[in-house]
Amino acid sequence: MHIEIMTLFPEMCEAVLGESIIGRARRAEKISLHCRQIREYTHDKHRRVDDTPYGGGMGMVMQCDPIYNCYKAVCDELGTKPHTIYMSPKGRIFDQQKAVELSQTENILIICGHYEGVDQRVLDKIVDEEISIGDYVLTGGELPAMVLVDSVARMCPGVLSDELCFTDESIYSGLLEYPQYTRPEVWEGEAVPPVLLTGHHKNIQEWRTQQSIELTRIKRPDLYEKYIRSK
Ligand code: SAM
Repeated sequence: MHIEIMTLFPEMCEAVLGESIIGRARRAEKISLHCRQIREYTHDKHRRVDDTPYGGGMGMVMQCDPIYNCYKAVCDELGTKPHTIYMSPKGRIFDQQKAVELSQTENILIICGHYEGVDQRVLDKIVDEEISIGDYVLTGGELPAMVLVDSVARMCPGVLSDELCFTDESIYSGLLEYPQYTRPEVWEGEAVPPVLLTGHHKNIQEWRTQQSIELTRIKRPDLYEKYIRSK
């Protein structure tokens, strides 16, 4: 999978996506990711990429040309049109199902807006879908883009040690995950549930499934309803 992020703050994305599991996966070439500075694609001598909104109003709007030039450069380099996403509070809310779908996509281009957003004309011309990470407004699309990349990339082959690492997890499995414990066996007088020390895999699995169902019933009745209906 190859991901391109178009942003005014590439260093911000690199700082996060160059670390930890995603950074390691990039270095091992399990995924590739390139952050592009949109300012490099403007012909303005002051490298300006925004202007005031037609019709008046607060703030600035990102202009069409730098974004379109950057997009065309990506298409030329890849030799194909990537699946193009605009991070936006107006988009469809991101969820695990969308992350699974995107993890099977070969080339993804993510546009991060800033200020009051992006001139609608360039969005209409190049964007395949708008994605929001929730019903709140952030100052820019960088954090949403990083959320999306992290959740999509970890499902690409070879990024995590085993597929079970994500198929067995909260949400993906349709339930919330059971509680996890590690050493020491007793901490502050609290012992680990005894079944986990038995080495009896079937009993452990049954206990975990029961815990998952109960946790989901209490914390996420909406997921629980879906789970019950699917049974
Ligand atoms: N004026 C816009 C509106 O009311 O819809 C909000 C612009 S916001 C301040 C600046 C940029 O942050 C957006 O262009 C978008 O790229 C990003 N952004 C903000 N909130 C977001 C969210 N919940 N999900 C995805 N992107 C978001």
